[in-house]
Amino acid sequence: MGNKKDTENEMVIEFDGRPSNEGFARVALAAFCTQLNPTLEEVADIKTALSEAITNAIIHGYEGEVHKIRIECRIKENTIYVTVKDTGKGIADIERAMQPMYTTKPELERSGMGFVFMEAFMDRVRVESTPGQGTAVHMEKIIGR
Ligand code: ATP
Ligand code: MG
Repeated sequence: MGNKKDTENEMVIEFDGRPSNEGFARVALAAFCTQLNPTLEEVADIKTALSEAITNAIIHGYEGEVHKIRIECRIKENTIYVTVKDTGKGIADIERAMQPMYTTKPELERSGMGFVFMEAFMDRVRVESTPGQGTAVHMEKIIGR
């Protein structure tokens, strides 16, 4: 049984995809990442990116139905890796979905800037999605650069 190095740490949380759970998820992730001694700005960036991904899962992935959202978080050396997963409707054209101002819900006054914010606040964003099966948004950020 190989022991993980002290520089590695993982956590997973899963919760109902309700807007009222978004605050809880933000605080849980912020608490977990304090072990990297992030600045307030870095914490705010991570929380904002997480909120965008969770809101997308609720609004676009599940379209008002309540299903589980899973957050997988890993810290390795000075980098935090966050994955937000839903099992919702998925994204057919990921490249297009990530374009600035592209939204499939203009009627809900969405501006199509969620992925742009995630990319601005994190160092790397990668989306995996299968229509009818769900979406995983992988984000990473180096802390203390
Ligand atoms: P905003 O985030 O500015 O309120 P938005 O959510 O439409 O608007 P993005 O967050 O950039 O903009 O997402 C772009 C598009 O990608 C969405 O309109 C939606 O079609 C699709 N999308 C994003 N996340 C998901 C998801 N988890 N499941 C299904 N579709 C998604
Ligand atoms: Mg969005």
